[in-house]
Amino acid sequence: MKKMTHAWLAFMAIKRLEETGLSRANRKYADSLIKLFKSRRDDVPQGAWYPDAVIKDMASSHVLKITPSAGDTVKFRRLPTTLLSYQYGKRSPVKKKAFTIDKHDNLPDRCESIAHSVIDHLKIQKSEDKGSPVLPTDNQVALLLFMLSHYVADAHMPLHCDSRKFSDEDNVHGRMEGEWDDMVKRHYRIDDDNERFYYDPDGYPLRDLNRDQEYQSSFLKTVEDELLKRKFFLTWGAKNKNVWDYMSAVCQHSYLLSYCFLPPRYDHTSVTSGNWQSLGKVAFKELSTAVLADAIDSIARIWFRVWRRYEKWKKGK
Ligand SMILES: [Zn+2]
Repeated sequence: MKKMTHAWLAFMAIKRLEETGLSRANRKYADSLIKLFKSRRDDVPQGAWYPDAVIKDMASSHVLKITPSAGDTVKFRRLPTTLLSYQYGKRSPVKKKAFTIDKHDNLPDRCESIAHSVIDHLKIQKSEDKGSPVLPTDNQVALLLFMLSHYVADAHMPLHCDSRKFSDEDNVHGRMEGEWDDMVKRHYRIDDDNERFYYDPDGYPLRDLNRDQEYQSSFLKTVEDELLKRKFFLTWGAKNKNVWDYMSAVCQHSYLLSYCFLPPRYDHTSVTSGNWQSLGKVAFKELSTAVLADAIDSIARIWFRVWRRYEKWKKGK
């Protein structure tokens, strides 16, 4: 995914945490996270883009490439049932079929490690004396959270979890991500010189109301509608116990969704700039709704859970 898409997803995840119904205790946790985020909102685009712009671990940590293989049927990990990728996964032509994962790829590990780093930084911040040279700052914690959102979002991009070579030939991978970024840039007001959003009175990206009619029929609107009607679960889903389990499940369902969109008989030579949008059971607009809405949900869930784990530790201290 591209820069402004990543930034937009991070903002929408915070908005989801602000608007969703939570218990009193959970609301307190969410509010302190929202406060940290909002006071650094101008730096979200840059922070969430660090993994692509500077760290550049794209080949191993932004992907978990999966390939169908011969062998017995297998059980896939489960996700909260509200995720569209989970629902589409049930209809995937490769569901239950054996698969292998490229041994160089480690996206779930990357997410788990950053999640730990966030909590470690917060604990050390709480424990160190003021003025200590090793005292982590709120800015460092915020940057880690923004970076974490990048890896979480990338896992929802189906082609990051499909070993077929869709970046070759007509580059369908790039085209999909280009469509998402163009849509965000088209419908939100952006301060181009500084690569930031302008904000609405609540502090979220300001939508361009001159294009409202067009927005109403866009997949950004279906994402908005999908999240409004979707209940927000804090749980990881079924037997998943941590960020690693959850992200592994997300990657498996991105792979399943990829095959719903681009059926097994297709590869980079047969999917072209002319035909890529509607070859499978799921068309591009539906796929976009699933990817973006699920990514927002996952970022919100992971950020909240990480934050709460620290807050609970702080309480017990
Ligand atoms: Zn990336």
